[in-house]
Parts: sequence; C-alpha cells; structure tokens
Amino acid sequence: MTKIARNPSAIDPMIAMVCDGPGTLLREERRPLPTPAEGELLVRVLACGICRTDLHVIDGEIPAHYPIVPGHEVVGSVLAAGGGVAGFSLGTRVGIPWLGHTCGRCAYCRDGRENLCDHPKFTGATRDGGYATHVVADARYCFPLPDELPDAEAAPLLCAGLIGWRAYRMAGDGQHFGLYGFGAAAHILAQIAHWQGRSVYAFTQPKDADGQDFARSLGCVWAGASDEPPPVLLDAAIIFAPVGALVPQALKTVRKGGRVICAGIHMTEIPAFPYADLWGERQILSVANLTRNDGTSFLEVARQAGIRPTVTCFPLEEANRALADVRAGTIKGAAVLVA
Ligand SMILES: [Zn+2]
Ligand SMILES: [Zn+2]
Repeated sequence: MTKIARNPSAIDPMIAMVCDGPGTLLREERRPLPTPAEGELLVRVLACGICRTDLHVIDGEIPAHYPIVPGHEVVGSVLAAGGGVAGFSLGTRVGIPWLGHTCGRCAYCRDGRENLCDHPKFTGATRDGGYATHVVADARYCFPLPDELPDAEAAPLLCAGLIGWRAYRMAGDGQHFGLYGFGAAAHILAQIAHWQGRSVYAFTQPKDADGQDFARSLGCVWAGASDEPPPVLLDAAIIFAPVGALVPQALKTVRKGGRVICAGIHMTEIPAFPYADLWGERQILSVANLTRNDGTSFLEVARQAGIRPTVTCFPLEEANRALADVRAGTIKGAAVLVA
C-alpha cells in the first residue's frame, strides 16, 4: 500500500475536537493530515461512540496526555498504511478500541493479560482518538469489522460492548444477572444475556421510568430503582455507573458465592459496609481495559446474537453538546459522533 492513498478525501485537512486540559470544553482544530508511521494505519473516521470514560478524561479523573483528542469507539475506513502493515487494504472498515498499544514485554503481556500492561497506550487518553475526521492507529490493535452493522451502530460495540463483555465473562455462568446503570454498555449486554436465555435485572436511577421501560423492551425480566431489591437473589451484578455507593447496595442483592463486578474505569468513593454483607464468599472484582482476544470473541458473539445498539447521532462539531447529554444521562442507548 502506498504511504498516502490517492483518495480525494485524503486531500482535505483533518478536523479534530481537542481537549486542552481537565475541565475545559472541547475545541475544534484543523490539522494537516497525519502520515502513518511504521506499523500504523491512517483511518478516515466514519463514526465514534461516546463512552463515559471520555468524560473522565475531560474531567481529569484518569491519567491522560493533554492536549488530547478523545474517543475510543472508532469506526473508520483505511486510507493509508505505514510500512510493515499486513492484513488491511484500502477501504477496509476497521474498529479502533481503547487499547491502543502494549509493550509486549512486561509480565502481564507475557502472561496473556495485556489489558494490565505496565506500559500501555490508550486511544483517546494517551494517544489521539476518534473525535476527529481522521486518526492514526497501531494496526495491531485495530479490528476488521463485519459488514452487518451501519457505522454508527458498530461504534458502541468497541468499548461499551467490549468492556461489558469482559465484565460479563468475569461474572460467571449464573442465570440471574443484575446491571447497575442502564446506559450504552448495559443495553448491549442485556441483549446478549437475553439471547443466551439468561435473566437480566436492570437497575436505574430512582424514578427513571423511561430507562426502566427501555430495559424491559430489550428483554430484561425486571427493571427497578438501584435502591430496590430485585425479586430474586442474583448470581452476579455488574456496575457500570461510576457511583461507589452502588457497590454495597449491589452486594446485598447477590447470593452466597455471588460476584459484584465494577466495570468502570473510575468510581466515586465506596462507602463502608458491614463485613457480614461480603461474608459467604461473595466477591467484589474490577474490570480493566481489554485484550485483543476480548475484541475478536465479542465481535463474533455480537454478530451471532444480532446485536443492534440503539444510538443517537451528533455531528462531530457538536461533541460538547453530546457529552453534556451523556453526562446528564438523557441518552437512550449510546451517543455517537459522525464526521
Ligand atoms: Zn506490557
Ligand atoms: Zn470506553
């Protein structure tokens, strides 16, 4: 493949929505089109989902390198490749996830747990992401995407779906699953669990009748407020909302030997709770990042299950408005930027 493909859109400059530092609004910036280095792809962004992690980057709640272009649920089309890239051709539709690079040498990488790499790079936090018309990515961490889904619907699979899937696998083989925070991740996971014949219990903010109706429409057997007890004890509960107070609440809903999985990258402080609520071999676990194996296995399951994310699309330039809506919790399903 040539270094810069002779595609008309490659002549246009790149537009990026840039975060200069914690607590600032994103600013639109025009940049020259980047050139992919050895092992990299230059990708024309077709859609980029908004993840709650993007808010944590913008709020300075997790490590990031500013100025940064957020966005790690990127669906795009390959425009050009640097040297040494195999397996992608011009126009291939690819997904670019949160895990942007790993060292391949640390104990975690050698042990097949690259999600815990000591020297990682994360798309949209420590390397530029997909709130832009173009992005450069390490080809080894990009996934070819199946053709079934439109671009905007494929985008939320790349983090909401994928990290949700990692959390779901960690939750074990039980029948009764609770999901706290019925946003982008939960609404995808609920479809998979329902497809597998499992029973899903959705916990939303109190009085969020719309969110509870939405959960039931996707096959959840019960939907209620996060401070309500479900009708049965759960085998596992997965917490997607960044609210530490949900951990002791969720612990009360799981049976002996059950698990509470914290699936977010950031959470407010977890309040103290009686040891008796943990006793009985209940477990509290966290999920960090993803491996490439998570990506390929999840995308295949999503294809088989016929997952159709519910999306609300915003033009790229309206990223600040979209982020405000995600922050307010008013988006049903996932918010997606389209360039
Ligand atoms: Zn490593
Ligand atoms: Zn994410």
